[in-house]
Amino acid sequence: MIAMLDQDKFNQTAKRRSPENKKFLLKLKQREPRKVDEAFHQLHEEVFEEINCLTCANCCKTTSPIFYPNDIERIAKGMRMKPGTFVETYLRIDDDHDYVLKSSPCPFLDAENYCTIYEDRPKACREYPHTDRKKMVQITDLTYRNTLVCPAVLEIVERLKALSI
Ligand code: SF4
Ligand code: SF4
Repeated sequence: MIAMLDQDKFNQTAKRRSPENKKFLLKLKQREPRKVDEAFHQLHEEVFEEINCLTCANCCKTTSPIFYPNDIERIAKGMRMKPGTFVETYLRIDDDHDYVLKSSPCPFLDAENYCTIYEDRPKACREYPHTDRKKMVQITDLTYRNTLVCPAVLEIVERLKALSI
């Protein structure tokens, strides 16, 4: 049987390293963007070779993606629902005026950590945890916040600290 993420242990480690990671990521903004991207992208590949998201699903359990109009249309269609009914049933508007889930864990996550709307899932879910994006120096705040949610991001940042970029 594959070991599941020890959530308490992860939360403790992430919290303990949080001040150092915050400082490190803030400083990264001053580095050469291309070099930062290269390092992130290589570590993203490396770490996701080692981590199986099905043993984790912490993102789906604890945070909500943004649902853009295209996401809502596509998902509602896949569920044979009217977009309006989908919004009414599952979504609310957050402080940034974006549509997000009313509740967490995500209602589309099943007991085995599979996404039941995988083919139609929101763009934000496809792109999470955003460590293979271009211009990583522009999203260091987001990356910092994700060190507290995603074990892969925490590991990527830990390995990044060991490199001299
Ligand atoms: S993306 Fe990160 S938080 Fe989400 S399931 Fe994978 S390792 Fe866990
Ligand atoms: S839609 Fe799927 S991938 Fe996105 S948060 Fe929900 S379960 Fe996770």
